[in-house]
Amino acid sequence: MSLSLINEQPAVYEDPLDLMDEIEELKKSREATILAHYYVDGEIQDIADFTGDSLKLARDATRVTTPVIVFAGVHFMGESAKIMNPTKRVLIPDLHAGCSLADSCPPDQLAAFQQELRSQGRNFQTVAYINTSAAVKSLCDWIVTSGNAREIIERVPADREILFVPDQHLGRYLSEVTGRRMILWPGSCMVHEIFSIQDLIRARKNNPGSVVMAHPECPQNILEITDVIGGTEKMRKHVMSVAEPTTFLVATESAMIHPLRKAAPQHTYIPVPGIMASTGETCACNRCPHMARNTLQKLRDCLRDGRPEIEWKDFFTKAREVLDRSLLQM
Ligand code: SF4
Repeated sequence: MSLSLINEQPAVYEDPLDLMDEIEELKKSREATILAHYYVDGEIQDIADFTGDSLKLARDATRVTTPVIVFAGVHFMGESAKIMNPTKRVLIPDLHAGCSLADSCPPDQLAAFQQELRSQGRNFQTVAYINTSAAVKSLCDWIVTSGNAREIIERVPADREILFVPDQHLGRYLSEVTGRRMILWPGSCMVHEIFSIQDLIRARKNNPGSVVMAHPECPQNILEITDVIGGTEKMRKHVMSVAEPTTFLVATESAMIHPLRKAAPQHTYIPVPGIMASTGETCACNRCPHMARNTLQKLRDCLRDGRPEIEWKDFFTKAREVLDRSLLQM
């Protein structure tokens, strides 16, 4: 899939093994630690010092001892790493690696909506999924990931309403499992939104005895026929807990198949296909175009040149308080 921005030069082919050697050298000479999300290419995960979901990586970032962190993921993850480690330099391979879910909740619109609720006398706390910009985090009371959402929501006083941003599907799912009523922001992730229920049903029929695993960012119709609902770390732990070779139909970003295979190679993993909203055609890849902007070449360039870098902004201080009490004080 080509996702080049206008004026962005297509990369010249370089041998991945040479690039990996170069990255290893640069990592030492630049005193850097590489963190990679489960949704980036497997070859990047293989040379990273830490891999994981958003929650695990946010915590791992606080254990880094080198002065430089390179975050192979998307922009809000780099921001979170910087917020948790203000004294370190945080680099990301591509500044344009954004997130459709984070973009669906602009901070000015959230601030205006919160103001409207307050003017109606509503007594609420704002809970944000970690897939939000730092500016949005600074407007919230709590940050959750798919790995800790239940525990955090239980901390919101029972007499308060909950405004949940930005993922409507995750919010609805959490509202069901916690029994808390929520005001849902109408955002969604472009990858999890497009899974095709028809293809999932067909895949299940074609693979008798298979187990469906889906991320809670998926729409309700997918979760209704899912056997294991959970974030990426929960999926990984689940396949490791099953000894008997099993076929798993996996409804999340397709790069997730790589860590699942590494963790439990005895199983068969089939990515659930999606439907292109624009054309209605089946799309077999389910790759996040933002995560796919991370390449070995950009990772090498970023280590070599010391940029792009996430710079500290004033509102990071408030976002840090929220992230700290949500992710570290457990
Ligand atoms: S998979 Fe969805 S939520 Fe995750 S980074 Fe991509 S667009 Fe954002």
